[in-house]
Amino acid sequence: MAIAEPAPAPTEAGTRTAYRTCPLCEASCGLEITLRPAAEGGEEVVRIRGDRDDVFSRGYICPKGSTLKQLHEDPDRLRRPVVKRDGRFVEVGWDEAFAEIQARLLPVLDARGRDAAAVYIGNPNAHNLAGMLYNRPVLRSLGTTNVFSASTVDQRPKEISSALMFGGGLNVPVPDIDRTDHLLMLGANPFASNGSLATAPDWPGRLERLIERGGTVVVVDPRRSRTADMASEWVPVRPGADAYLLMAMVQVITSEGLVDLGGCAGLVTGLDEVVDAAAAFTPEVVASATGLDAEVIRRLARELAGAPTACVYGRIGTTTAEFGTLTSWLVDVLNVLTGNLDRPGGAMFAKAAAGASNTRGKPRFGREVRLHRRTSRVRGLPETFGELPAVVMAEEMDTPGDGQVRALVTIAGNPVLSTPNSARLDAALADLECMVSVDIYINETTRHADVILPVPTALQKGHYDLALLQLALHDTANYSEPVLPLDDDQPSEWEVLARLALVLQGAGSSAEPALVDDLMITSLVQAAVGDETSPIHGREVDEILGLLAPRTGPERILDLQLRTGPYGEGFGADPDGLSLDVLLATPHGVDLGALKPRLPDVLRTPDGMIALAPELLLADVPRLWAGLDGRRDHPFVLVGRGDLRPNNSWMHNVSVLVKGKPRCTAHLHPDDAA
Ligand code: SF4
Repeated sequence: MAIAEPAPAPTEAGTRTAYRTCPLCEASCGLEITLRPAAEGGEEVVRIRGDRDDVFSRGYICPKGSTLKQLHEDPDRLRRPVVKRDGRFVEVGWDEAFAEIQARLLPVLDARGRDAAAVYIGNPNAHNLAGMLYNRPVLRSLGTTNVFSASTVDQRPKEISSALMFGGGLNVPVPDIDRTDHLLMLGANPFASNGSLATAPDWPGRLERLIERGGTVVVVDPRRSRTADMASEWVPVRPGADAYLLMAMVQVITSEGLVDLGGCAGLVTGLDEVVDAAAAFTPEVVASATGLDAEVIRRLARELAGAPTACVYGRIGTTTAEFGTLTSWLVDVLNVLTGNLDRPGGAMFAKAAAGASNTRGKPRFGREVRLHRRTSRVRGLPETFGELPAVVMAEEMDTPGDGQVRALVTIAGNPVLSTPNSARLDAALADLECMVSVDIYINETTRHADVILPVPTALQKGHYDLALLQLALHDTANYSEPVLPLDDDQPSEWEVLARLALVLQGAGSSAEPALVDDLMITSLVQAAVGDETSPIHGREVDEILGLLAPRTGPERILDLQLRTGPYGEGFGADPDGLSLDVLLATPHGVDLGALKPRLPDVLRTPDGMIALAPELLLADVPRLWAGLDGRRDHPFVLVGRGDLRPNNSWMHNVSVLVKGKPRCTAHLHPDDAA
């Protein structure tokens, strides 16, 4: 483990420098933040730029990264709770806000049952240590089965295919673009997104360097995006036809004897079933559906199989389309068939320092993934990972009958803007009996709330990317301390969420959030000492709790996870190992090295093998086949498009990001227009 020495902070007279990981997208860049004393007391941010010594980002920053100052100082940002009275929001104290939630929300739950409430967890929670850890008690206390999140309008298909193939929704292989010879990328535009489900700062620079060293980048996308423009080849597939293209590539590789499982040999079940499933999808058969010449498809398959190293990577364009789960599956089927899964330059698994289920418990041991355990009330859409698709939220609210949703809790989400069918959802929210939001803004969604609880800004809270580092293209660990103190009487984020959980479980509006925190850490320590694979197996719970003191909140949980994680110091077992203290002493992060092969130990499937042909996915192949004809009925298909500057609708007041021509526009090809 290479631990970088902290570089001396370059201070100007009267200023100080702090370091923080940017939480605004999945790239997780290191920021260097210069502060000075403010005229009204305290400190103010003078400048934010890329941290040149950050072990992952090496100074890279995009236009969004420097806007944390504007977000923090935005006068429109909520600093105290607000309660709606006579149709207007009124600022109140924290005790009053929680008392209002108790008085308004609990009667709805008592009268109609827990499923009368829904909860929506927004995307920023994935970038937020407190949100990642303390939303769970809120969900448990609410006790509803109507759980929704941004994941079901984004990456859920990839989580499903990864869970079925490798045994974990975040057991997602990521493209090793720094070492690959050949990258086949579908539905991804990292020049706008900065990368997704594949965490790395400076995706654009990494792609350019891939090409400079003689590698190939093939971009499959209906639109000639900026990424497609720089690629070695742009393949303009018809929208939504990625599954056909990939199935045909599987057919070519399996029928031409190009299968080479490499390091996966002996670790794969279902190869014959995949060969059978793909047999009919020849390049000629899918040519019209994909809009691609059969010979182009054949060449793409042969080039992928023939490259010294290669990886296939699909992103949001593949998961927000019909057959998104089949496409996500086929991406990794191709990685396996070409011997590129789990080798340098291929698709690899990160080994995160904390929080990853693929580093906990027995290797090659997992439970069966159970999906579709229930369906939504109105349309009958299936549950996945405990959630229903966000697209059914509006109908669950505005369709009368048993189980109708009459109350909502949102946490850092703006589904009226970010989920489909927004006009209907907007109207449905207006008709709810009670709504509570945890958010820093009054926005299109939270304007309907009865109570809004604001949390501190990114600059006021500690940060560690529990989720994103599980998807990183290079293993690192980096904790950021709060840069600025909390405002007067502002509770920390975990305290807000813990107190909300207590109100929802009927413990009263003034119950101490420490109750939730202590319960959480105690149960986590109990689980660790009871786990025979943990470095603290068999030790006393009280001893470990004593060693974690006096920390509280997310930092205490993070410290436990780091110390018992794969690089951890194991509470004395390895003095050179990681802990939160080590990360605090290395503000530019700890470099844990390039990704290394992790098979077979990374697998958490019930039989310890890679499931190349999960039953649930094979069962969907006939529908894919049937869809070949149906596609002719839709001469025009609308596809989504990303943009570098917006983020989670929080940037609406940041002038540098919103100025210029409107970007919410529809693009139409001139031939189609004609
Ligand atoms: S690329 Fe993402 S993480 Fe990096 S500065 Fe921009 S918004 Fe922040």
